[in-house]
Amino acid sequence: MPQYELRCRECGKSWGNQPRSICDDCFSPLEVSYDYDALRSQVTREQIAQGPPSMWRYSGLLPLPENFQPSLPTGFTPLFRAPRLAEQLGAKNLYIKNDAVCLPTLSFKDRVVAVALAQAREFGFEVVSCSSTGNLANSVAAQAARNGFRSWIFIPADLEPAKIIGTQVFGAKLVRISGSYDQVNRLCSQIADEHQWGFVNVNLRPYYAEGSKTVGFEIAEQLGWRLPDNVVVPMAGGSLITFRSSGDGLLADFDGSKGGQRRNRSAKTGNHRAFAGDRQPCRRPLRD
Ligand SMILES: [Zn+2]
Repeated sequence: MPQYELRCRECGKSWGNQPRSICDDCFSPLEVSYDYDALRSQVTREQIAQGPPSMWRYSGLLPLPENFQPSLPTGFTPLFRAPRLAEQLGAKNLYIKNDAVCLPTLSFKDRVVAVALAQAREFGFEVVSCSSTGNLANSVAAQAARNGFRSWIFIPADLEPAKIIGTQVFGAKLVRISGSYDQVNRLCSQIADEHQWGFVNVNLRPYYAEGSKTVGFEIAEQLGWRLPDNVVVPMAGGSLITFRSSGDGLLADFDGSKGGQRRNRSAKTGNHRAFAGDRQPCRRPLRD
């Protein structure tokens, strides 16, 4: 029996492990469910401490295929104290997690893509893909090149050229779509259904989302296995905020996490307190 599988967030139906993100019975999102009883007896802090200086030190807590061999030292980025900023903000202790040095493309997205591509290989995909407005495209293109996948990246037609130079460098096929980011996403869902392609943020999304939890694991370990009172995360596509539910009992929930968003970007809803306040979702969010 695998130690993880997809399960519907609403109706609880199990879907095994397959490239799928929606429950056919109730149309709710699927998420990865773990056998925590088995994990508790297998994963220890001491074992993690002996692991590599990358997110792969938490392999036992991630949905990775058996015998998975990582090809890049992604993650385990620095957590450093920022006393002067803390003073400005009136915080007692303030730390900054610097994922701007995450490998291979200097973005948090490298974490989620790494887990998604591990499953893409397991499912037999030769082409990996995504819809993106920038960082995700770069990360999929780079890690596809590294791991021997062909990659197709779908972007809004009006995306600034500077955003996707990195994507082109890694040899991805770039498809500009006339329409909003939502329309690009819809098209990707249709392509994923018709072709045998692994879209990291469509049919591989449940696995992809799990990669973000490594940020939470790292913060906890870097603070001596203590949890901060509050965590503030940039909202962007919303994938980072999923790290706060890191492990249902393996780590306590980050009850104090907050999502911050720049003006005019769509505010995510859910059980997270957000700085967005009374902001409303918008059709064409600003990109940065
Ligand atoms: Zn369901």
